[in-house]
Amino acid sequence: MIARTFALALRTYPFRETSRIAEWLTPGHGRITTLLKGAHRPRSIFFGEPGLYGTSELLFYTSDRDRLLIARECSAEKERPALRTDWRACAVAGYLADLALRIVPPHHPDPGLFGFFDAAFDRLAEGRVSEPLLFWLEFRLLRRLGLAPHLHACAGCGVPAGGAADPGWRFSATRGGLLCPGCSPAETSDTRPAARDVLAMLRSWESPGHPDAVARLVVEPPQRAALRGWLGDFLAYHLDLPPASRQAALRSLAYRTAA
Ligand SMILES: [Zn+2]
Repeated sequence: MIARTFALALRTYPFRETSRIAEWLTPGHGRITTLLKGAHRPRSIFFGEPGLYGTSELLFYTSDRDRLLIARECSAEKERPALRTDWRACAVAGYLADLALRIVPPHHPDPGLFGFFDAAFDRLAEGRVSEPLLFWLEFRLLRRLGLAPHLHACAGCGVPAGGAADPGWRFSATRGGLLCPGCSPAETSDTRPAARDVLAMLRSWESPGHPDAVARLVVEPPQRAALRGWLGDFLAYHLDLPPASRQAALRSLAYRTAA
């Protein structure tokens, strides 16, 4: 049977002499891997396809047995050329693709998750790449996966944290969010200070908001370090991430900040 779907190209690589393999994120089929037969032959209908990090309309033969599916046609729907030419956007896109490859199981439909990544790649392709946008995307992704940190009450005893956490409150990825001074009496290696300004920023990201406003946010070096650490802790603890590609993405964004 032939299926037709939109598909976001997360990774492609050569296969044998003339063919190519593409790993895709799709709304209705989850993450799938297809063989593009003869893709390296100049007259192939797949020649030059798919553009990495672009979204295509893909026709493929479904199979209950095979993990490697056979593509029949593929045509670009959103090419997003900036993600192959702007090295900063490319580094961030590479990190997001890496996240999708690691957290989305094969053949597990999740249209919402596809929409999240498709919209995220649109943002990057528009040139609105910044550290706050990357942190916001990580935070929104954690929320979508049901793994967002508790930011309004102590994750240990439930006492409310109020408008802004008081001194002594700390943040723990292993405990799931904020900890009151009573539940986190000593500075331990798996907790970090819960700075008021960073906490307020994360709370504001709990409602969807607008990514353009986030992309323009100016974060001071201590806020940047806190967001990098908090979100990195969460990704590490709950998803066995982040991968090295996060470091590459953050380094490329920091370079622009310093330039
Ligand atoms: Zn507590």
